Formats: sequence, C-alpha cells, structure tokens
Amino acid sequence: MRIPFIAGNWKMYKTQAEAEAFANEFVKLYSGTDVRAAICAPFTDLRYLVDAFRGTGIGVGAQNVHYEDEGAFTGEISADMLSEIGVDFCIVGHSERRQYFAETNETVNLKVKKLLEKGIAPIMCVGESLEQRDSGELYDFVRTQLEEGLAGVEKDDLPKIVIAYEPIWAIGTGRTATPEQAEDMCAFIRNTLIEIYDEESADEVIIQYGGSVKPANATEIMNQVEIDGALVGGASLKAEDFMAIIDF
Ligand code: PEP
Repeated sequence: MRIPFIAGNWKMYKTQAEAEAFANEFVKLYSGTDVRAAICAPFTDLRYLVDAFRGTGIGVGAQNVHYEDEGAFTGEISADMLSEIGVDFCIVGHSERRQYFAETNETVNLKVKKLLEKGIAPIMCVGESLEQRDSGELYDFVRTQLEEGLAGVEKDDLPKIVIAYEPIWAIGTGRTATPEQAEDMCAFIRNTLIEIYDEESADEVIIQYGGSVKPANATEIMNQVEIDGALVGGASLKAEDFMAIIDF
C-alpha cells in the first residue's frame, strides 16, 4: 500500500533563522496524521532541520547533489555529505535546475544512481512545457525523461524513488493542472514504469503531482487514484498552509 507523501520544496527561500521559526510551528502542527511529509530545504538549513525533526517522522530533503563522490567541483555538495548529516531525500531534475543549471536526463540519471548508492531517496521530477502539451508531444517527452533518468536503475531500487510529475507551465504560476490532467499523466507514468520494469515494483512507486498545489486544491488532487502525494513549492513556506495540504 502506498502511503501518501507530501514534500515541500523551499527553493532558495529561508535562512536558518526562518527555518527555525517554521520548524517550531510545524512540529506542533504535524501529529496524528498518517500522511508522510518532508521539507526539501537549502543546504544551509539541512543540519538544523534534521535535528529539529528528529523523532517527529518529518523527513528532510536536499534540492540538488553532485553525482561524483568528491573532487574539484567548486560549489557542489556530495551524496556522502548529505547522508552524513541524516538527509533522507533529494530532489533531482527539477525543471528550474534543468532550465537554469543545464541539468539533463543524463546528469539526472547519474544523480539518481549516486543517491540510491548512498541510501538517499531521489525525488525525480519530470514534466512537459506548455508547447509540448499543446503540440501533443507531452507523453513522448515524459517517457524519455523516465527512460533516460532511470537508465540502469535496478528493479529492486525502483520503489525507493519518488517520481514528481510537475508540468512546467504549472510551477509557480498559480495555474494548476486540472485533477484530470494530473491523473492522466500520473497514470501514464505508472504504466510506463510497468513497461520498463514490472507491475509489482511500479505499483510501489510514489508518484507526486507538483504545480501550484495549495490548501484550496489539495483535496481534489490527492483524491485521484494514481496521485500519491504532492511536491509543493510556494505553499510549503508557511507551516499552516503546508499542514492544511497534508491534512487534505
Ligand atoms: C515546485 O517548485 O516544485 C513547485 C511545485 O512549485 P509551486 O508549488 O510553487 O508551483
């Protein structure tokens, strides 16, 4: 059975002092729920959040990682560095990293494999642009992202990966995919995973929808059969809003 999983993506928001204020409030709100939750925060907040969330069941994620173990890669962070401080998840292939930091399916794939090797669960983002949707290329595009992003990943490791379907046109725009559009693509993603792997392992994969999820639309998104969770940007910055989504 797939347990719903809601992850916040703080992007480049929140100093440590701001993260502390959030954590103090959120830890009090997050209890008595069966929904799993995590915050993917800037690197500078991670150590603090791991301590603040210890024993609460709330996970901590990074938003990027390098695929090499170590080396002369100025400004980068390795999976060992994340795992040593107790990070549980790491977003890879977010459309903002693909757009502004030249992330490709190939580097996404290297990062996914490195994270799995180090025991950190990748949250691998896929999703089409508006042009691709309008021209009908959306399914081929997302299939290629899945095939190339997961190349060489063993069947036994598949259930450790979270797939986040984030249509680029819905991120930070206030424009949410309709529940039907989101469900349709999440079902396509699950079927593609069945084709690449098999039904048993694909059935265990958490597939999230991301793109302008907020308290007002969380219920209808989360009520879809193939949507197991959400990756939440803007609305994860306020503890109350994030909790309202978790309480969908
Ligand atoms: C995101 O950045 O992953 C995201 C879904 O952002 P927002 O919720 O703000 O659209």
